[in-house]
Amino acid sequence: MNQSITIALSKGRIYKDTLPLLAHAGIIPVDDPETSRKLILDTNHEHIKIVTVRASDVPTYVEYGAADLGVAGKDVLLEHGGDGVYEPLDLQIAKCKLMVAGEPGFQRRGSRLRIATKFVNSARNYYAAKGEQVEIIKLYGSMELAPLVGLADAIVDLVDTGNTLRANGLEPLEHIADISSRLIVNKASLKMKSQTIKSFINHMRQAVGEASAA
Ligand code: AMP
Repeated sequence: MNQSITIALSKGRIYKDTLPLLAHAGIIPVDDPETSRKLILDTNHEHIKIVTVRASDVPTYVEYGAADLGVAGKDVLLEHGGDGVYEPLDLQIAKCKLMVAGEPGFQRRGSRLRIATKFVNSARNYYAAKGEQVEIIKLYGSMELAPLVGLADAIVDLVDTGNTLRANGLEPLEHIADISSRLIVNKASLKMKSQTIKSFINHMRQAVGEASAA
C-alpha cells in the first residue's frame, strides 16, 4: 500500500519547472496554486499532497517533517545550512549562478569591502574561504541598488541572463556557485516511508534524465 506523502513547493519558477517532472512521475495537481488560495493542493493520487510555501521556508518544512519531500534552490539550501535534510537529486531546473557583482572597476570605499546581499551565509563563507575581511549588509531585495547609492561596494546575488545587472550598470565579477533546484527529503520519512519515497525519487530521476536528453 502507498503511504501518504507531502511535497513542499514554492510558487512561481520552481512550481512551474517542477510540474513537468511530477507529470512524468504520474503526479498531477488538481488545484492550480496561481488561481487557488489553498495552501494544501490535492493531486490525482489520494495519498500525495502538495503544500505551497515560501521558497526559503521549504527546507524548514522538510527538516521538521511537515513535508516529506520538497524542491529548494541550492541558494536556499546553502543559506539554510542543509544539514537537516537529504539532498538526493539535482533536478537541473531554475539554473543560475550565485555571483559577486559591482560597478565596472569599482573601488572599495572603506578599509573593509562592504557587500550587500540576501545571501549572508553564502557571502560570509565565500569571503572567509578567501581570507578576506568583509562587512555584510543584509538586504531582502533590489540588491542592485546598493552599489549605485553608496550603501555597498558590491553585491552577492543570483544571476541568470545578467540583464538585471546590466540594466543597472553593474557587471558580474566573481563566480561563487552554480545554482539549480534540488529534491530534498526528510531524514525520518526516508526511513519510515522508504518504499514510497524511493520509488518517487526514482521516477523523478528518470524524469530529469529524459528532460535533459530531450
Ligand atoms: P537575470 O536578469 O536574468 O540575470 O536574472 C536576475 C534576477 O532574477 C535576480 O534578481 C535574481 O534574484 C533572479 N533569479 C535569476 N535566476 C533565478 C533562480 N534560478 N532562482 C531565483 N531567482 C532567480
